[in-house]
Amino acid sequence: MSTSFQNIKGTFDILPDAYTDDGGTRVAPTAEWRYVERTVRDVMARYNLEEIRTPVLEPTDLVARGVGAGTDIVQKEMFAFERAGTNYVLRPEVTAPVVRSFLQHHLDQRGGVQKLFYIGPCFRAEQPQKGRYRQFHQFGIEILGTDDARADAETIAIMTAIYDALGISDTRLRINTLGTPDRREKYVEALREYLEPYADELSETSQRRLEANPLRVLDTKLEHEQKILQEAPQLIEYVSDESLAHYDRVKELLADLDVAYVEDPLLVRGLDYYTETTFELEGADLGAQSALAGGGRYDRLAEVLGSDEPVPATGFAAGMERLFLALDAAEADRPKGPAADVFIAALGEKAERWVFQTTQDLREAGLHVALDLKGRSLKAQMREANRQAADYTLIIGGNELDAEKATVKEMESGDQVEVPFDELTDYLTTKCDVDGA
Ligand code: AMP
Repeated sequence: MSTSFQNIKGTFDILPDAYTDDGGTRVAPTAEWRYVERTVRDVMARYNLEEIRTPVLEPTDLVARGVGAGTDIVQKEMFAFERAGTNYVLRPEVTAPVVRSFLQHHLDQRGGVQKLFYIGPCFRAEQPQKGRYRQFHQFGIEILGTDDARADAETIAIMTAIYDALGISDTRLRINTLGTPDRREKYVEALREYLEPYADELSETSQRRLEANPLRVLDTKLEHEQKILQEAPQLIEYVSDESLAHYDRVKELLADLDVAYVEDPLLVRGLDYYTETTFELEGADLGAQSALAGGGRYDRLAEVLGSDEPVPATGFAAGMERLFLALDAAEADRPKGPAADVFIAALGEKAERWVFQTTQDLREAGLHVALDLKGRSLKAQMREANRQAADYTLIIGGNELDAEKATVKEMESGDQVEVPFDELTDYLTTKCDVDGA
């Protein structure tokens, strides 16, 4: 079969079965996505977070302001459009939307600290490659309303707990402090002054960053640029004593929780709204797209979005697609999708009708029942029963209808028993450990 249509480049379908995409990456089946999402939700519940769901469409200005005009996202990666005088963007991340929602709905009035998590699609017009898509999926958290170092440490602990729960242990947590914006501005000036004489030696990307957002030059992966940076002024020298004390406290708390980390004075991350603690979780063997998740403190974002009061906050965002790359690299266990409890094959029109009705009764009793909807041969129906990996198979024909008994075959052992029709529901619900409806 064929169609003249294809999914858009940089997006992908999630199918009932795993498959390999054009770039040679395994795309996990729906059952694995559900398992990962379930694990994420379980960990979130243990850490006392509540779910928030915000729209995929947001005002373009929210992203431009919230993520920052100097960022790659806003400069070249937004899927933004105008319609009847309104500017829309497909959200490229979820922090700015969550803070918008928090402010709009006065969630602070619920009292205390708000601990929120999300899972959902995000959109960035990046060059698609392994682990980098135009529609991808993030999960993450935002802890709003506290500047306590415990919130920073707990944010990191929740992030690492999720990878631990999934059996991904080959990771590296890098942390740094960005200090406060006023000190950072002074540092950025010093950095710019230091880098300007080297401008001609910098890559086009770094030259652009030097203009728009010099901190991002520190992100470079190019060796000759890293060499230039060795002698550059260090952010930590500009950070206030108060910020350093906060950072020390975060490190102390991480040690208390046995969360391993390395300090990386060059870690700055791409988004403008970060202050104080910042961090990134890397996976081993993931090549260029090694960043599994990242985040930090963003005490200024609420005001940037128009709040008359500051809302100190921390959060992290993690990519699902990268998580699956790490799951594959770790060869971590994943459950298969649920198999059918029962497959019922029918021979002949009368049997088909009886099977169709009985299937409904069994399903109402809570059983997962599969049947043929095409009138195929017995052989084809048995092939289907195998594909469905059904635990029990029934074959119903004229003889069974006359005797009002079904032969129930347990597929694993091959054992067969005869069960009167009127005992069938009880028999199968007991065998398959299903609570009747
Ligand atoms: P960021 O919001 O840029 O800090 O991204 C947080 C996480 O989302 C990253 O660590 C990645 O795991 C994931 N991510 C970001 N951009 C993409 C993308 N284009 N495709 C797939 N995953 C992404």
